[in-house]
Amino acid sequence: MSKKKAHHGLSTMAIHGGADPRKAGDPVAPPLVQSVNYLQEIGTGAGLKYTRYGNTPNSERLQRRLALLEGAEASLVLGSGMGATACAMLALLRPGDHLLASAYIYGGTFKLFTEEFVRHGIDVTLVDPLEPRAWRKRLRKETRAIFIESPVNPTCRVLDMRPISYLTKEVGLALVVDSTFASPVNFRPIEHGADVVIHSATKYLNGHHDSMAGVVCGTEPYIQEVLHKMMVWGQAPDPFAMWLLERGMKTLDVRVRRQNDNAMRIANWCADRKEIKRVHYPGLSDHPDHEVARAMLDGFGGMMAIELTGGGKAADKFLRRLKLFQHAPSLGGVDSLVCEPRYTSHAAMTSEERTRLGIPDGFLRLSIGIEDADDIIADIELALK
Ligand SMILES: *Cc1c(COP(=O)(O)O)cnc(C)c1O
Repeated sequence: MSKKKAHHGLSTMAIHGGADPRKAGDPVAPPLVQSVNYLQEIGTGAGLKYTRYGNTPNSERLQRRLALLEGAEASLVLGSGMGATACAMLALLRPGDHLLASAYIYGGTFKLFTEEFVRHGIDVTLVDPLEPRAWRKRLRKETRAIFIESPVNPTCRVLDMRPISYLTKEVGLALVVDSTFASPVNFRPIEHGADVVIHSATKYLNGHHDSMAGVVCGTEPYIQEVLHKMMVWGQAPDPFAMWLLERGMKTLDVRVRRQNDNAMRIANWCADRKEIKRVHYPGLSDHPDHEVARAMLDGFGGMMAIELTGGGKAADKFLRRLKLFQHAPSLGGVDSLVCEPRYTSHAAMTSEERTRLGIPDGFLRLSIGIEDADDIIADIELALK
């Protein structure tokens, strides 16, 4: 699991990183070892292998590879993105500790922090990350960590990590970044001062809508702590899920670059349509975080949102007419998907509350796939008519 000097490009590492040297007769595609347990030596506890311990062949190679991609010392693959977030934070926080978390976070993370952690004696303050000096103002002597997600779901805001990492270094806090929306192709938070990187590998890393996993990256001793949490809270992934993740990751770089290109073209096209009131995409020069995105990201990503001029009614009609876009939650895969936050991630809020957050009725989140951009645009054009 330890850090090797990254002397290869990202695409090469996504295919070969962390693999052992091979010899004649070895398979080219990495084998799936669908075994929970392994034979053990007699007279010693050393070398005990078990799937929930994260030390089986399908997990170890993948963990080395993900650490290389993020520029971390070590990484751990878990059963889901939520499992990764839960174990990552439990490894950092004790009862009596205080967590500063961005208010713009995934719905499941929000529940974990505000319903579960609070019940276990961990105090959580939600912070508007766009308010100047917001983090510093809410700092307490019990504060242990800052948690952010960037780019933000579903508004595609991009947070400037520079002032935040300056603060966490000055005060000695852990800076945790959920980087799911970007993937390591577009954003590597450790290069910008993060201590811990989390992914829902269910999204871009797997990329094919067919397996669930999560990743935590950080220092070697910290990842050992996260491993301990995974073992006792039971958040380990199945070997087959890891095999699918490893297979999906081989095309990570080409997929994400294609999604970046497709989304940029689609965002530009949508920006000229009168049926679309607003396009949220950090690659557009009128996006409020365009300059921040240029400083933080290597690509603007495959996630975008549009606001239909006709509001909620127009959204209903639009969704029924789409043929290529599938109406489904989740994101980051090869198929283009669309979802409506008013019925999914933000269903618990009133229409007014959502509007205040920048998610009015008629707001649609698009996860752009790798289909031909012309076909995706034609699909949107027909559905708008
Ligand atoms: C989906 C998602 C998660 C949760 O991941 P699962 O794999 O569904 O558990 C966490 N954070 C973000 C930003 C996500 O999009």
